[in-house]
Amino acid sequence: MQRKQSKSQFQESFTDSCKLKIPLRLPHLLTERQIHHHQSSVAPQHWKMLPFTTIEEAVTFVGRNLTVAETLWFNYSAKKSDYYLYCHNILFLFLIFSVVPLPLVLVGLMRSLGFDKYKIQPKVSLSLSEMFQCYKDVMRMFILVVGPLQLVSYPSIKMIGIRTGLPLPSLWEIVAQLTVYFLIEDYTNYWIHRFLHCKWGYEKIHLVHHEYTAPIGFAAPYAHWLEVLILGVPSFLGPAIAPGHMITFWLWIALRQIEAIETHSGYDFPWTPTRFFPFYGGADYHDYHHYVGGQSQSNFASVFTYCDYIYGTDKGYRYHKKVLKKPLVDGADLSSSLFGLATTPRKCDFELTSSLV
Ligand SMILES: [Zn+2]
Ligand SMILES: [Zn+2]
Repeated sequence: MQRKQSKSQFQESFTDSCKLKIPLRLPHLLTERQIHHHQSSVAPQHWKMLPFTTIEEAVTFVGRNLTVAETLWFNYSAKKSDYYLYCHNILFLFLIFSVVPLPLVLVGLMRSLGFDKYKIQPKVSLSLSEMFQCYKDVMRMFILVVGPLQLVSYPSIKMIGIRTGLPLPSLWEIVAQLTVYFLIEDYTNYWIHRFLHCKWGYEKIHLVHHEYTAPIGFAAPYAHWLEVLILGVPSFLGPAIAPGHMITFWLWIALRQIEAIETHSGYDFPWTPTRFFPFYGGADYHDYHHYVGGQSQSNFASVFTYCDYIYGTDKGYRYHKKVLKKPLVDGADLSSSLFGLATTPRKCDFELTSSLV
């Protein structure tokens, strides 16, 4: 009777067949994680690279020709360790924090460009040096907290099973996972943020983020170091529950930060593509949270509006909009007289309209 081939024997034969260029049937039966696991058991290492060294081996493993994207990914990543690939996030975050807010700086400084009509709090404007100070503060946090956190969190990424190999995920898989990540992050962030608005949480931690009563793009990650660490948990939960490819993980981290920069931009542009997402909060929604300040019990959610609606914490915002009867961008003068609109940036206003929110 033919003896059934064990998984490890099959994996060894796969590796041998790659070396000898022997076509191997049903290579797709093995997941990349299984091969990684096998290789770890043979030669323990945590800096794993792709389990094949040539395109031919990759084609054999995938069981079909590689797509253009997969070929590019293979050429880029085949000789790079997983740890190195993971650490790309540090570079991406640095670029996003540094570059994405720059057009907003330009728009804020060159008022002649005609974008003031989209400014949510038009009476508040920061100088270039004030914006640069915010960027320096964020970079200090990036170097001291965000970067080191990325460096040491690699084992958790391996533990939950973020993969780096082939095949690449389909566009549908990427979109589905990103949607799950955004929903999980939004829900978890809502409750953490709401907790941070209790007396202790606000005074000890969250006060720093609210120093900007009229937020700017650079201020999106501006927060107490402990808040940066705590809010890393909701960002990590989605990938932990539905682990995907490293490219999906990169996209998730990048898109979440870009979304946060837009939300803190201080401008409610009518052409932003995020307007097409259902239940999306946006800049106007989160700006109100900063505008009300420390007493705010409204608009806790980071991305969508449904949590605040379900738990009844959008009443202040809705009342505000109802009174104005038009978007905040057009009614700032009215809001100034009605609600005591803050005109001094970097100042927490504890006396604003607590009865309304
Ligand atoms: Zn807050
Ligand atoms: Zn904020």
